[in-house]
Amino acid sequence: MHVLVVEDEKKLATLLRRVLMEERHTVDVANDGIAGFDLAGSDTYDLVILDLMLPGMDGIEILKEMREADIETPGLMLTARGSVEDRVTGLRSGADDYLVKPFAMAELLARVEALLRRRHHGLDSSQELVVGDLVLDLVRHEVKRSERIIELTAKEFALLEYLMRNAGQVLSRTQITDHVWRYDLDALSNVVDTYIHYLRDKIDRGFGKAMIKTVRGVGYKVDA
Ligand code: CA
Repeated sequence: MHVLVVEDEKKLATLLRRVLMEERHTVDVANDGIAGFDLAGSDTYDLVILDLMLPGMDGIEILKEMREADIETPGLMLTARGSVEDRVTGLRSGADDYLVKPFAMAELLARVEALLRRRHHGLDSSQELVVGDLVLDLVRHEVKRSERIIELTAKEFALLEYLMRNAGQVLSRTQITDHVWRYDLDALSNVVDTYIHYLRDKIDRGFGKAMIKTVRGVGYKVDA
């Protein structure tokens, strides 16, 4: 897929390009709003990831102009620690989704995939990850076990998604940290254990069978 990144923070722009390219997307980067709008206006992109605060033209202006020009490329808005007002403004301006910095790359990629899938296939069952009676819906950002909806935080969701994508495989703490906390500053050594504990509380407690398993000396896995 062809993705445009409009981000003036060069380090983040480079990181986004690298991570998206690893997922086999073709990526163009613009470091200011005007250049970003010019590229977005060419209407050849499957997705635009754009920062809210940009020199020249901000993310909201870019989206507004795009929508006025009937360019319906999905937009994923990035912004610094967002207030509720920012979120509302972002979504009203035509953004399809919204992510608050700093975010984990796993979370960004999940949103990107959801937006691309929505654009190209409409809603279908491939947007779900299923392991036993555990179902993770990538588009609705919803988790169910035995049809019971389980509320997860964004980080718990990203962790569970990573485990479920690799169901049956043991993942080391390092692998988990790299995928789920890559861009975050809060990746302390015991953060994985802490979040596994949170997830177990929500996913496994009260159900007959534990799905999140510890493999001693190695890491964790999800298994039906
Ligand atoms: Ca910025």
